[in-house]
Amino acid sequence: MIKVVNLHKKFKHLHVLKGINLEVKKGEVLVIIGPSGGGKSTLLRCINRLEEPTEGEIYIDGIKITDPSVDINKIRQKVGMVFQLFNLFPHLTVLENITLAPIKVKKVDPQIAVEKAYELLRRVGLLDKAKSYPSQLSGGQQQRIAIARALAMEPEVMLFDEPTSSIDPEMTKEVLDVIRELAHEGMTMIIATHEMGFAKEVANRVIFLDQGRIVEEGTPKQIFENPKEERTIEFLSKIL
Ligand code: ADP
Ligand code: MG
Repeated sequence: MIKVVNLHKKFKHLHVLKGINLEVKKGEVLVIIGPSGGGKSTLLRCINRLEEPTEGEIYIDGIKITDPSVDINKIRQKVGMVFQLFNLFPHLTVLENITLAPIKVKKVDPQIAVEKAYELLRRVGLLDKAKSYPSQLSGGQQQRIAIARALAMEPEVMLFDEPTSSIDPEMTKEVLDVIRELAHEGMTMIIATHEMGFAKEVANRVIFLDQGRIVEEGTPKQIFENPKEERTIEFLSKIL
């Protein structure tokens, strides 16, 4: 479903991604761990073309999305993304946040978009918040709305960039529960997270990204219980 080949990203002279190769199969959950500044966000942002790769290729569902002629809006419909900060539109209600892109970009009939939005709100446990504004919600609730908004586009892949790191600890569970359910439903996902317990539970595979390189890759059991590389061991000793 996702294939990244020799991906490099430079910001002027700063070489942030140094030849990333990875594959994610349909229905697989890949978790990315690694120190701050290692390139996790940049990698995710390249995969939905929020950043322009400097070199290398990315394929999603067989389509070479790094091709200059590709329709970026089409890619963004295939690839949903949830950010560290919730990024909801503050001047729109929850319902309007969720229905905006389906109506404007996908040209879904507004009535159908609203019905679908209510179904998603039920799924994330926030049916009663449809008419609220983002500022009236907790961080955990806003993040669940952000997930519902991404799902409203019916993506084939979901990318999560540290979805709980801006949320109060007591609110993280409700967000992780929603992501866990998506995993069980077979959604293909890449998740950058520091929630190691969660990573162990949902990941099919874990990669440790440090200084723009994949240092180590394996099953959660291999990476968390029996890491091989010195840098992985050191990183895990700090956060576990
Ligand atoms: P992580 O998500 O693992 O913390 P990032 O991908 O955010 O890492 O950042 C990797 C490196 O790239 C950092 O040194 C960061 O400062 C740099 N960086 C990220 N985005 C930009 C940008 N738009 N312009 C310049 N440097 C950037
Ligand atoms: Mg980041």
